[in-house]
Amino acid sequence: MNRIQIAVPNLGNEEIAAIQGPIGTGWLTQGPYVKEFERNFSKIHQTEYALATTSCTTALHLMLAASGIGPGDEVIVPSFTWISTANAVLYCGATPIFVDIDLETYNISLGETIKKITSKTKAVIVVDLFGLCVDIEEFRRQLGPDLLLFEDAACAAGASLNGHMAGSISDAAAFSFHPRKSITTGEGGMLTTNNPNLNLVAEKMRNHGAEVSEEERHKGAAPYLLPEFNLLGFNYRMTDLQGAIGVEQLKKLEEFIRERDEQASYYQNQLSDVDWLSLPQKPVNGVHAWQAFVTRVIHSDGAKFRNEVMEILEKDGIATRPGTHAIHLLGFYADTYGFRPQDFPNSLLANETTMAIPLHNQLTRDDQDRVINALKKVAG
Ligand SMILES: *Cc1c(COP(=O)(O)O)cnc(C)c1O
Repeated sequence: MNRIQIAVPNLGNEEIAAIQGPIGTGWLTQGPYVKEFERNFSKIHQTEYALATTSCTTALHLMLAASGIGPGDEVIVPSFTWISTANAVLYCGATPIFVDIDLETYNISLGETIKKITSKTKAVIVVDLFGLCVDIEEFRRQLGPDLLLFEDAACAAGASLNGHMAGSISDAAAFSFHPRKSITTGEGGMLTTNNPNLNLVAEKMRNHGAEVSEEERHKGAAPYLLPEFNLLGFNYRMTDLQGAIGVEQLKKLEEFIRERDEQASYYQNQLSDVDWLSLPQKPVNGVHAWQAFVTRVIHSDGAKFRNEVMEILEKDGIATRPGTHAIHLLGFYADTYGFRPQDFPNSLLANETTMAIPLHNQLTRDDQDRVINALKKVAG
């Protein structure tokens, strides 16, 4: 029997054809395809601006750096997320302040966020984990207008809540095109914002701090001119090969999400009577991007039982993964800040008992039935 993977990227002839463009012209670095990808991405996500980057991690760094976040500043992040949400804060010399999550959504708790705000707090980064949007309107209402409200939307391309697309109403958002996400460019990311100043600074910082882009300089009539560099920047530019792939992937995003949503509904219907398994829920008024279908094992043996289930499925040729990790348990953060596991109890529990089951755009109904049957056979 074939092995059922946890996630599989979905690339086809359209992407193969698209990369002939930049290969043919020889313009491989950030250029016209990246620009088209950015334009289409911002249109879909209802944002004024979009800047393609090498990854979501670099988009997060760029977002904070371009906002002037630095030493002495505190930035609130959830304690259950991919490590780079917090790492990006440290890249700027600022201090990440961790906040526990709500177990129903796996997203940062608004109540706990409010408790952690101090005079040093400059920004809050909420994470639309696994493709479920945070209620940005509610956060804004409760946090007030002075704090920067950023969105790690790595998993949330195409997602929405209450009529607002992911990234559209936060101060800025960072998306990922890693192969584990719903659309991919191999590696890649996107920084979106409606703030013209943030966009302008981020655009320069993405390109070493140069005042003029490579492409403009290449086309320019004054070959002796080198650009001005008035900022500390980085090289976070996406290649045009990736841009060409991104343009094609983006055309398929809506269809990918529709398929994923059908798969999620099927799991929800078929697994509802497995009493030791808690299933993720769809937002009442929104679109879940289903980057992953993350269940939680409810059992007195906790992590031990979860791990046994994962081993049983693995023997059946079915891949599973923990949802993500609790950052305060990771060696670097535990050692640096002296965290104890119980400091963030929901994140600890999510770390020990979440289990993502296969969901991707090459998954068949038969594959899903195999996963469902394997789970139903496990006695709680
Ligand atoms: C995947 C992911 C990232 C990192 O994205 P990269 O593009 O691999 O840098 C950051 N945050 C979250 C929540 C993620 O899921």
